[in-house]
Amino acid sequence: MNTSPRIVDYAILGGGAAGFFSGIRLAELVPHASIVILESSSNVLQKVRVSGGGRCNITHNCFEVSKLVQNYPRGERELKSVFSRFQPKDMLKWLEDHGVPTKIEDDGRIFPISDSSESVIRCFMKETERLGVKVFLNHLVQAVKYNDESLVFEIEFSKDEKLICRHLLLATGSSKTGRRLAESFGHSIVTPVPSLFSFNVKDSRIAELPGLSFRNVKIEMKFEDKKFKSEGPALITHWGWSGPAILKLSAFAARELAASEYRSSFKINFSPDKSETDLRKDVAYRREHYPTRGLKNDRLVPLPSRYWLKVLEACEIDDRCSWGQVSKAAIEKLLKEILRAEFEMEARTTYKEEFVTAGGVDRREVNFQTMQSKIIPGLYFAGEILDIDAVTGGFNFQNCWSGAWVAAESVADDLRSKRAEPVSCVNI
Ligand SMILES: Cc1cc2nc3c(=O)[nH]c(=O)nc-3n(C[C@H](O)[C@H](O)[C@H](O)COP(=O)(O)OP(=O)(O)OC[C@H]3O[C@@H](n4cnc5c(N)ncnc54)[C@H](O)[C@@H]3O)c2cc1C
Repeated sequence: MNTSPRIVDYAILGGGAAGFFSGIRLAELVPHASIVILESSSNVLQKVRVSGGGRCNITHNCFEVSKLVQNYPRGERELKSVFSRFQPKDMLKWLEDHGVPTKIEDDGRIFPISDSSESVIRCFMKETERLGVKVFLNHLVQAVKYNDESLVFEIEFSKDEKLICRHLLLATGSSKTGRRLAESFGHSIVTPVPSLFSFNVKDSRIAELPGLSFRNVKIEMKFEDKKFKSEGPALITHWGWSGPAILKLSAFAARELAASEYRSSFKINFSPDKSETDLRKDVAYRREHYPTRGLKNDRLVPLPSRYWLKVLEACEIDDRCSWGQVSKAAIEKLLKEILRAEFEMEARTTYKEEFVTAGGVDRREVNFQTMQSKIIPGLYFAGEILDIDAVTGGFNFQNCWSGAWVAAESVADDLRSKRAEPVSCVNI
């Protein structure tokens, strides 16, 4: 940038998913608008690049807004209006129209057909260039002045370098500087805590079994005044428990877990489809009809056989014990291990495929019809800077795409209504 102050229609702080998508969308809506993306680092779209293990889990196969919002422990209510304007189906169409075909996996996650996040990055880079959205790297914005008479923002990089705009989008993700900027405008910040992590558990029942997966379990975690439940696949790792059901629990109980310093007990039900009554009937049937059949090779529920052996060991049931021999007390232990197996979480581990921050700009201070601040007119928010986050599966990006889209539409409406006023069209 050269030394005289530049005036642009839309300045976007943060060259991530939300920032890029909002810039591109405004350029599509108002082709003459001057748009800049200011990125603090030397690279843009870095999280998109590493997302989904390098494949980019763009969004989720969930096109019903009322169901979609249930995946957001924070933001469920506010996102209803945002998703009614732009939802996963719309993102897929947008990508398809822009040369990025996608595919839906069995678990509902949606990826580019190429299985590479580079397809999304290339598309965004091509679009910003084609539409004239300017991207400035190594531009860390630490302070922005707001003139409440002329309603403009003044972004000062150095004594000689200034940018003036009437619409400013904070899309700085989970960065501290972004949150500080929001605070400087009078916004409150909900204290950030991590979300989407695995549970570290040291327990002989899962030792030596990393990699073992469970198709469907129910997990329950209780705190003093709150109970959290989740259901889905789970996975034993080198450090403890992970998998979608655990990650979901980590998201919904993010605040309580942080308060407990990640020390809490939880219970796993390995038989979510069969009730305790039915399991008791199954045991009675075996004792009556197959008393000589050994427990070792007769799993009461479809658990992986290596885990079944650990369960028998935990219940002190001998390898050679048959249904006719097993004591009533041992059966009670067995049912407990199947329906309410208790584990102790000792710490958390970052889930490498995806992790996010819970907390950020207080949702009560944002108008979700426009993504605009209720405090400062012309100030917008999108993406992870907001106190909005989701379970794993592409929902976090969907929050970025949808918020970015709605913000761009609102800026476009404003630019169109103010077309007569000479704030735009200064090239930089
Ligand atoms: C390893 C990993 C994998 C993930 N995988 C998935 C996935 O597959 N699917 C999914 O839905 N979600 C995934 N997520 C979550 C998802 O990446 C985030 O929700 C999303 O990237 C948030 O986008 P954003 O634009 O809000 O912020 P970011 O992507 O963090 O972008 C913010 C940008 O702003 C810049 N910035 C910060 N402060 C300033 C400043 N003061 N001035 C200028 N620039 C600034 C930063 O450098 C950054 O480039 C993953 C997260 C991680 C960490």
